[in-house]
Amino acid sequence: MKRVLVTGAAGFLGSHLCDRFISEGFYVIGMDNLITGDLKNIEHLFKLENFEFYNHDVTKFVHVPGDLDYILHFASPASPIDYLKIPIQTLKVGALGTHNLLGLAKEKNARFMIASTSEIYGDPLVHPQTEEYYGNVNTIGPRGVYDEAKRFQESITMAYHRFHGLDTRIVRIFNTYGPRMRLNDGRVIPAFMGQALRGEDLTVFGDGSQTRSFCYVEDEIEGIYRLLMSDYTLPMNIGNPHEISIRDFAEEIIKLTGTNQKVIYKPLPKDDPMQRQPDISKAKEILGWEPQVGRAEGMKKTFDYFKSLSKEELEKTEHRDFKEVNRK
Ligand code: UDP
Repeated sequence: MKRVLVTGAAGFLGSHLCDRFISEGFYVIGMDNLITGDLKNIEHLFKLENFEFYNHDVTKFVHVPGDLDYILHFASPASPIDYLKIPIQTLKVGALGTHNLLGLAKEKNARFMIASTSEIYGDPLVHPQTEEYYGNVNTIGPRGVYDEAKRFQESITMAYHRFHGLDTRIVRIFNTYGPRMRLNDGRVIPAFMGQALRGEDLTVFGDGSQTRSFCYVEDEIEGIYRLLMSDYTLPMNIGNPHEISIRDFAEEIIKLTGTNQKVIYKPLPKDDPMQRQPDISKAKEILGWEPQVGRAEGMKKTFDYFKSLSKEELEKTEHRDFKEVNRK
């Protein structure tokens, strides 16, 4: 039985990855320090014989007994609100955590994958973003702690690949959504879903002309899995290229949820990227992968998930004001 370590296992993508590896017949070791993860996302796995969980902070030395065939480093805060609340941890998990896990991968002779991000392109001046674009990142801005940690993570991974011959993969993940998204991280989908369900107006930041391209989680996991199993070692974009402005997205959610709220406008957070759309030519050509789930279908499934939450859970999606967490 192949053995895989998934860090960030109790998080949104990490938990879906654990499910995927279990369904592929792997022995899965999940690791998380539960700062932003939630055990609820993996509680269904605890009864399985081929799953175990370590509550561990990967910025400290990581020890896992036995062989490992694959290590996927998916632990990290992943929302602008989190970067403001826990900036040092965000830097450490991307930098020190990656270093520890690369050391573990070398020791175990395991294939290593990091969850990189469209954020390494910053506020992009090239559209859509190809893997060759170097990005436009403000190193000292509020998102810098995430963006630079992720950029460092790519560099150190390539260094281990080139210098130590480690077998590595780098996936650049674009905005992804679906069941188990964290409720209280202030990201646009939990925010809008929560507002629609509570009967509040939807808060669009700026004039809403900024764009994003949202990928349904099943598609994202399929792309990640195919990249892991391929022999491609350079960074690859995995995301849905179907782009929409945040203003139109808010209208779409109002229609989908059948509510009659209005859109209200709030100030645009600093360094909020104006446009984002993955160029997925490489994934199509090399992995034969492209998203299968359209936004209408994916958003409906996601709305069903939010509707199924208890009232207390839904309260967590309450609008998060950046000023609340921004230190002077
Ligand atoms: N956004 C918004 N209202 C909200 C939360 C987010 O208009 O209540 C906007 C945000 O300014 C950004 C986009 O939605 O332009 C996506 O934000 P998110 O935090 O989900 O992710 P990211 O900016 O990292 O793509």
